[in-house]
Amino acid sequence: MDKLYSPATIQKIKNKYEFQLSKSLGQNFLIDGNLVDRIIENSLIGKEDLVIEIGPGIGVLTAAAAKKARKVIAVEIDRNLIPILQETLAGYDNIEIINRDIMKTDFREIIKNAEKGNKRPFNSVKIIGNLPYYITTPIIMKILEEDGRGLIGNITIMMQKEVADRIRAIPGSKIYGALSVTVQYYCIVDKIASVSKEVFVPKPKVDSSVIRLTIRKESPVELDNEGTFFAVVKAGFGQRRKTLLNSLNGIYGFSKEEVKEVISEAGINPYRRAETLDMKEFAVLSNVIYKGIRD
Ligand code: SAM
Repeated sequence: MDKLYSPATIQKIKNKYEFQLSKSLGQNFLIDGNLVDRIIENSLIGKEDLVIEIGPGIGVLTAAAAKKARKVIAVEIDRNLIPILQETLAGYDNIEIINRDIMKTDFREIIKNAEKGNKRPFNSVKIIGNLPYYITTPIIMKILEEDGRGLIGNITIMMQKEVADRIRAIPGSKIYGALSVTVQYYCIVDKIASVSKEVFVPKPKVDSSVIRLTIRKESPVELDNEGTFFAVVKAGFGQRRKTLLNSLNGIYGFSKEEVKEVISEAGINPYRRAETLDMKEFAVLSNVIYKGIRD
């Protein structure tokens, strides 16, 4: 097979298989070999690792990952791509292609199945993908909620620049929100590359970024109750223009007076807005609220 990351190969495949690119499935295929290498290098795949790829397309990242990993499992929703992948990846004996919707796939189950029949466990699990844009945020949340601080070492993914910027945002910026706090709570976020529209076929409307989310082994803040932390973050940013006093009004049935009291007890001015609070402040606030619920 010719090199996969080229417009000519994509055209050949389209002709041979009468394959139509699907806009609604976010099919923008990578045509830049350097970027493929950069994504794979930065995903820090080891020889004894399992790689799970979200949306392999015609297999550009899959092939590159298979050269580094013990095993690659590529989950592709479009059944028309399956015979194509079987051809483009025929030279590899360590790739498994699964025709499924990644949003309906349990990551722990994939890992457990991959471990069956193995003489030794995988060293680590790495997730890679050039994400279909329509599932960027839900898929990240799904992985983090499903695996927590479990088996996954890192997630190295391409996404629309705007979402990557929100994930990396710091307190005080307009784009800092619940997504930033949640992802940064679970992961160390590194930006790997800024990506222009030009390196895809067809060209998407927006620019992209590659980021690596390294799962933290331990919580970066001291929490008495994780659920309360996420509830406070969600409520705080629910109406981001409001002061904390107003956005948290009614949380866990607290009256406005009680809310004012707990926020002040956390050492925070109740007239501040959620977007000015760093993760540590959210943690202290949620701990005080949790204490209030129990008392
Ligand atoms: N990895 C290839 C590349 O970089 O050239 C393709 C990337 S393309 C942006 C996204 C891929 O994800 C497409 O192949 C698309 O069919 C697939 N896809 C879209 N939604 C999916 C889903 N819910 N589950 C699994 N794959 C999906």
